Amino acid sequence: MKFVSTRGQAAPHTFSEAVAIGLAPDGGLFMPETLPDIRSRLAGWRQLGYTGLCREFLSLFADDLPTEVLGGIVEKSYLSFPQPDVAPLRRLDERLYVLELFHGPTLAFKDFALQLLGNLYEHQCAATGRSLNALGATSGDTGAAAIHGLLSKPRTAVFILYPDGRISSLQERQMACTGAANVYALAIDGSFDDAQRVLKEIFGDREFARRHDLSAVNSINLARVLAQSVYYLHAWLRLPEAERGNVEFVVPTGNFGNVFAGWLLARMGVPIRGFNVATNQNDLLHRFFTTGEYRTGTVHPSLAPSMDIQVASNFERYLYYMVDGDAARVRAIMQELKATGGHRFDNFDRDIFSSSCATDEDILRHTREVHQRYGYIVDPHMACAFQSLNPDRVSIVLATAHPAKFPAALRRAIGQEPVHPALEALKSRPIVKHRMKAEAGAIKAFIEAHGV
Ligand SMILES: *Cc1c(COP(=O)(O)O)cnc(C)c1O
Repeated sequence: MKFVSTRGQAAPHTFSEAVAIGLAPDGGLFMPETLPDIRSRLAGWRQLGYTGLCREFLSLFADDLPTEVLGGIVEKSYLSFPQPDVAPLRRLDERLYVLELFHGPTLAFKDFALQLLGNLYEHQCAATGRSLNALGATSGDTGAAAIHGLLSKPRTAVFILYPDGRISSLQERQMACTGAANVYALAIDGSFDDAQRVLKEIFGDREFARRHDLSAVNSINLARVLAQSVYYLHAWLRLPEAERGNVEFVVPTGNFGNVFAGWLLARMGVPIRGFNVATNQNDLLHRFFTTGEYRTGTVHPSLAPSMDIQVASNFERYLYYMVDGDAARVRAIMQELKATGGHRFDNFDRDIFSSSCATDEDILRHTREVHQRYGYIVDPHMACAFQSLNPDRVSIVLATAHPAKFPAALRRAIGQEPVHPALEALKSRPIVKHRMKAEAGAIKAFIEAHGV
């Protein structure tokens, strides 16, 4: 299987190459050249456990890795998820399930992709003899998940920039209390946007990036999308036969990476009835799925901070399918988005996608009501999913983070702060962070001194 760029001006790459370089050389995102039809495999996959299913599914794409190598990487990636079925599906009532994706090391769904990506990188470093300096900026969960995916890996260092004083103290502790010698939490004097600007400048110095085997930690790596498809499939296979054709996944959404991973399965023939794109008050995608108008705006900080975005970086992948793989159209539309901040589409898939938008008030209300009705505690991201459940469908709501990560919001909603032993343990460990000016020169010097 080869992987092509959504913008059509890069040569096809193998799975390993596409994973290693992340963004395609023409600025596009990698997509499988063709999507396999997996309908005939579903019955045989029903008996598989999580890692077996993950190996079988990924082997359709990663055909340049021997199956036993891929299998080893997958096994290792999900060892750090203590639940036996990795992504437990819990039934709350007749028509409502919760898919818990928060049992990984940083208690958010991003661990599914970043544990796997870390082990894929490790395999590549070993195979090529190269080293890896991973660099990213975070406003919350991604940085922690990336750090834990690369923790103590040989010939690897990870540098994560974040705005000092502007992320929650638990989020900071997840990055700055690991005790690992190859992790650098860089607290930037400035905002998240400043951190991103600096990052862009550093990667813009291609010579520096090459010399230091610099790799970007972001949400657009192809392996992240494919790793995320697996838990949708795993959940779907566990539903009673009668419910499978009528299921709608309800997905708290920011960058459109998670829900896109599910939608790909529908493209591969899995009979999933729908996807509900649940946004917070930053409703870019809700506006898109109700009007066809994709228009970016300014970010308004919310109680669900990991969804506070106004540019959905994985949206380009969906766009590629909307225009039937016409890369010249993708280039033209991306150009228009860059120039004018918007584009109107008329052919998006209204039949399979629905959407909703939850304000902070809604988030607090849903958290309270779900707790009262089911005795179940949701986090503020998952709470957004309860804005518009479709009564005609069986809903599977994705629980994207553990509620203990957001104690302040939970106290406001239900008057108690849930705890988790992994987070409690962090509270007694020393914070090791490096305060830095938001200047490319200073960060480069730091990488120069501490990189591998
Ligand atoms: C990242 C994140 C999201 C949004 O996921 P996307 O793939 O960006 O749509 C939702 N909830 C939590 C807890 C997250 O960390």
